Amino acid sequence: DFAAVAADQLDLTRRANNLQGPSERGSAALVRAIGHGEIVPWYQPIVELRTGRMTGLEALARWEHPSGALDDPGVFIPLAERTNLIVDLDRAVMRRAFLDVSRWRTRHPGLRVSVNLSGRHLDQEDWVDQVRRAAATAELDPSAVTLELTETVRPSGPGLTADTVEEARDVGFQVWFDDFGTGWASLQELVTYPLDGIKIDRSFAAQLGRHVDNTVVRAMSTAAAELGLKVTMEGVETREQAVIARELGCDYGQGYLWSRPLPAARLEALLVTEDGE
Ligand code: C2E
Ligand code: CA
Ligand code: CA
Ligand code: CA
Repeated sequence: DFAAVAADQLDLTRRANNLQGPSERGSAALVRAIGHGEIVPWYQPIVELRTGRMTGLEALARWEHPSGALDDPGVFIPLAERTNLIVDLDRAVMRRAFLDVSRWRTRHPGLRVSVNLSGRHLDQEDWVDQVRRAAATAELDPSAVTLELTETVRPSGPGLTADTVEEARDVGFQVWFDDFGTGWASLQELVTYPLDGIKIDRSFAAQLGRHVDNTVVRAMSTAAAELGLKVTMEGVETREQAVIARELGCDYGQGYLWSRPLPAARLEALLVTEDGE
């Protein structure tokens, strides 16, 4: 199992670097962090390429230590996925994000939020109901919510089926595949599941250019369009990449060109500026 080998490799490297103790100690710290509300969403704008307008935000987990230190998810998400803590983590990030966006939508009624759901989360048979309840608690209209199914390993349990995706969409959620082009999902899966859209993995954005072969991205967005799906290009860092992504048929972009992920307070300040206040 390639993913397991890669995870073990990561663990070994970390131990060697003495950055993180044995994973039992790491996960005990993570359990505490989730319980104490130290895992919080930061927000990165998603922009409509045609108009340049910000239409939504992706909630991305950050570990804000009381000391002020900040961990990025490249370190603690793999740990959480190995230990099943990812289900609690996803829920904590989602709850907080729904509350923030529910509040922001009183002034910005069209604002949308995307949350990441790991394959482990989807292995919970009642995942749709869990998300529905979180939205209801935050008084957030489900039609404002996009669920990014974000796993490099194919979900193994009974949770991800065409029926559960349909159920999520009946509630009003949009359902997207994340990291398309690199994960387990192939074109076949786009036909199998009743999706709303795909996010093309940021490794493809890095390759977009005038004098390179953009066939793969064009093929993915053409297939998506034919199936009635929207397409977001993530990891857009330059103006040129944004222009080419649009020419190749992508609808939305996300990346450092527009903004890095920002803490809630800074994102809120940005929304006020957009108001012209
Ligand atoms: P992702 O879902 O593909 O999120 C996009 C990642 O690309 C984020 O990394 C974001 O900060 C980064 N990014 C955005 N624009 C650019 C750019 O222009 N250039 C480059 N080089 N990078 C860019 P981040 O925040 O480190 O998150 C890494 C991954 O961790 C996410 O990838 C996602 O798979 C996972 N993750 C983050 N938060 C959560 C969560 O709450 N739950 C779950 N299950 N996974 C999460
Ligand atoms: Ca994502
Ligand atoms: Ca992604
Ligand atoms: Ca990713």
